[in-house]
Formats: sequence, C-alpha cells, structure tokens
Amino acid sequence: MIAFVFPGGASLGAVQVGMLKALQEAGVRPNFCVGSSVGALNAAWVAADPTRAVADLEEIWLGIRRADMFPVSPMQMGLAVLGRRQYLVPSEGLRQLVSRALPLRRLDAGGVPLAVVTTDVNTGQPVVHTSGAAIPALMASCAIPGIFPPVKIGGRYLMDGAISDNAAIDVAVRAGADRVYVLPSGYACALERPPATALGMTLHALSFVVHQRLIADVGHFADRVDLRVAPPLCPLAVSPADFRHTPELIARAYQQTCAWLRSGGRSRGAEHLGFHGAHLARPFPLPVVAQPQPSVARMRVQRALWHASVETIWAIGRAANRARSKSATRTHRSHTRSMD
Ligand SMILES: [Zn+2]
Repeated sequence: MIAFVFPGGASLGAVQVGMLKALQEAGVRPNFCVGSSVGALNAAWVAADPTRAVADLEEIWLGIRRADMFPVSPMQMGLAVLGRRQYLVPSEGLRQLVSRALPLRRLDAGGVPLAVVTTDVNTGQPVVHTSGAAIPALMASCAIPGIFPPVKIGGRYLMDGAISDNAAIDVAVRAGADRVYVLPSGYACALERPPATALGMTLHALSFVVHQRLIADVGHFADRVDLRVAPPLCPLAVSPADFRHTPELIARAYQQTCAWLRSGGRSRGAEHLGFHGAHLARPFPLPVVAQPQPSVARMRVQRALWHASVETIWAIGRAANRARSKSATRTHRSHTRSMD
C-alpha cells in the first residue's frame, strides 16, 4: 500500500502540486493520503479524485493571493491586542475558498482514504480525522495558532495539525502503508533578509519548528517502512507568507521531483532535509542606521521650546493657585457676613 504524506507549509504548500504532477506522470498513485495544515488541503483534493487533483490544485493555487488567505482586519487585530480574540486574522477567506472548490463534503467520500491531522488545543495531542464533515476538519487542520481561530469539533477545540504531527508518517504506517512518499514543503533557506511582517516572521519561524519535527520523524521511520522523501526546494528564497511565487514553486518542484524519480526516487533519509548553512555570503546583513546629528540651531530651538513649555506650565499653575485662593477668600467673607 502506497501512502502520500503532505506536511504543512502555508504558501510553500504549492511545492506539493509540482511534486504531485511528477509522481502522477511517473504513474505513482496513492492508496492513502494524510495531511496537516495546508498539506491537508492538498491531500483532500488528491483523495477526492487523484486523476483530477493536480490540474484542479494548480488552478486553485495559481489564483490564491495573500489577501485572500490572510486578510488584514484592523478590528480583529485590535480585539486580539485587547484580549478579546485568540487570533489575528479571520479565516473566512480560506473557508470560502475551501467551501467553493472542495470536491469532497465528507472525509470518507473520496476515491482514496484520507486522514486529516489536527491538534487538540487543550492537550497538544494530535487528533486524526478520517470521517465526518470535511470542511471543519480541514479548517481546524489549517488553524495556525494565534493567526487563525481554532475550530470546535466534537466538544474539543482544535488547531493546526502541523503543531503536533506535521509529517504524520506514523498515521500512514498505522493505516498499513508499506511505502510512504513524503512531500515536504521545505523552508525558506535563502531569504535575503528576515520577513518584513509579523505574519511572515511567525510563519517562517513555525516552518523551522515543523521541519525539525519532519527530520526527526524521517529518521525514526527510515528503517521501519519504505520511506521516500521527495527533496524539498533548495535554495528557497520565498517566505511562507508570500503567495506571489506559486508558478515558480510548482515548476521547480516538478522538475526536481522528475529528476529525483528518474534517479530511482529513493529517499536518502533525513540528511537531505537537514538544516544547512546560509546560501548568502553574509546572511541577513544588518542595516546600518545613521544616527541623525541635530544642528546647533535646531538644538537652540528645541531648548527654547522646552523652556517656553515649562514656563507655560508654571504660569498656568500659578494662575490656578491665585484663582483658588481668591475663591476661598470670597467664600470666607460671604460666610462671615452670613454669620453676622
Ligand atoms: Zn538551502
């Protein structure tokens, strides 16, 4: 039994479309699909109809813009900062996309058995869904903590499956797979500078965490099952929050996976997934910030303004004291007259 495993990766999930295309052309078909996070979405399309999945997914991925996935809502962000929301971005854009395009209403209604991994918010343990409504499970699997809202299913709050079991190779093995193809989204190993936004930084950092887990899982299962890990893209200079490079990601992953399959499609274990040195001669060069030197005239003006404001405050204070003492004297005189 052949299983396809789809780890998460936000915008880098497009890589899996190129990998799928190469596998399809090579005649490799899955008997079981499992995915976490955005990988669960790709897995759902493959499980629904493996023959149409690549074309459909390519069309969908090419149409996704960052604003569709992560729409900026000042109100939501304000509520999150004030402690009234546990997420920064509404997931409606993603929900609408999935509701509109998903060719599967229930997880067990596809041509291939499907497992969707989520994480229990309370316990941190993975929760694997193989039946029931597809959309809530997929939304839960994509619910990046702090970014998207968790999803309540069966009395439990669930979040991104990548947090607890990104690769989910164990799920494929437990389902009876004897050959497991892992389609890693990889991580951005060649960014010229740190991501410019909080969202970009969060997703970039998370990609390291989940990739670390993938390396550990591949090492753990390498001798227990026929494990074939498609090589992730390297060097990769695309942030997982950046959806502008989808055509390039799909094309590169397709070519690379074709070459890998031509060479036998054997996994080289965890070593070709490992974290490696920077591709840049000088990683993340620190920006030189010139300290502006104030001119003498400017300093004199600032000092004069400072003195003027202090004098004004003193004058207001003195005027207020005088007015208070006059009022007290008037009150005392009128009180004395009334006593007479
Ligand atoms: Zn690299």
